[in-house]
Amino acid sequence: MIEVKSLSKKYGSYLAVDDVSFSIEKGEVVGFLGPNGAGKSTIMNIITGYLSFTKGNVSVDGIDVIDNPEAAKKRIGYLPEIPPLYTDMKVKEYLYFIYDLKKVKFPKAPHINEIMRLVKIDNVSNRLIKNLSKGYRQRVGFAGALVGNPDVLILDEPTVGLDPKQIIEIRNLISRLGKNHTIILSSHILSEIQAVCERVIIINKGQIIADDTPDNLARKLSYDTSLVARIVCDEKDMISTLSGIDGVSSVTSLGKKENGAYDFNIVPEGDKDVRAAVFNKVKESGKTMLSFSSDAVSLEQIFLRLTEAGDNEAARKILGISKDDNNSADTAAQTQIEESEGENSDSDIQA
Ligand code: ADP
Ligand code: MG
Repeated sequence: MIEVKSLSKKYGSYLAVDDVSFSIEKGEVVGFLGPNGAGKSTIMNIITGYLSFTKGNVSVDGIDVIDNPEAAKKRIGYLPEIPPLYTDMKVKEYLYFIYDLKKVKFPKAPHINEIMRLVKIDNVSNRLIKNLSKGYRQRVGFAGALVGNPDVLILDEPTVGLDPKQIIEIRNLISRLGKNHTIILSSHILSEIQAVCERVIIINKGQIIADDTPDNLARKLSYDTSLVARIVCDEKDMISTLSGIDGVSSVTSLGKKENGAYDFNIVPEGDKDVRAAVFNKVKESGKTMLSFSSDAVSLEQIFLRLTEAGDNEAARKILGISKDDNNSADTAAQTQIEESEGENSDSDIQA
């Protein structure tokens, strides 16, 4: 649906986007995550056809944004960081104006009414935009992006400056829209991306340093975290039982905890996922596991580690990716399939 190939953008001599490639399939909800100045808005502006670029190729639904900007724009609803609202217009009047501007073909009144209902601004349709709260204005901007029913939505920091209640409302709206739209959403806030996106592209200093599911990113970085299991058992027997599991590198008892239970620290070999094997082995041995947890790495920690890694090469090394295994959707999807076979991807299993 969206193809970006070897995209570079210079502002004067400053390289703001540096050889970025990715593709986004129809129906995906993808988060651009990166600190301020990373290049997120620049990439979004380029995809929407509002900004030229220095090198590369960008197409939307097979349409090149340079060769055929009008056709490409028709497929995209864009919510810029600061939506260009005409604040002296009334809500409905503004949406009618956008409708005319976009030369939409659907019957006007029903189309606009449906959008106003969807984003919950039908109750303010006759209010002047300048008299609306920031949350409502953001929703009017959203409504503008939805005029014409574009398949693709590009949302640049859609919740910036909103209060927590408004943030939740906008998030819910994005989740609902994600069911039948392809969405790119940018944010420098992790929880936001985690809440609504199935795929995260981390952008830092104009380059992509990671492209994966939130879970896979957490897993790739979790090699230095170990598992702790609390089991009602004989301490020595359990150490030898757990040590015998394929993929377990070492087992240490952390001592007696409660009602005949011991805590064991289990360190896997490399980045092997031994959770299911440990769980099953304990069950087989007839012992009771009271709790089982990994020191789950939050996306927050990942993000900080990656963006503080010095240069982007160091960041990629942390993730175990080289610049050449490209950031394609296929890779992410493939890993997902391989790793999701018959196991729970939650990092905490409570018995
Ligand atoms: P983000 O959206 O991730 O915060 P931007 O895409 O807005 O990042 O900016 C990327 C870099 O390009 C920043 O260093 C910014 O200062 C620079 N930049 C953005 N727009 C311009 C411009 N019009 N002229 C010069 N530099 C710009
Ligand atoms: Mg920005």
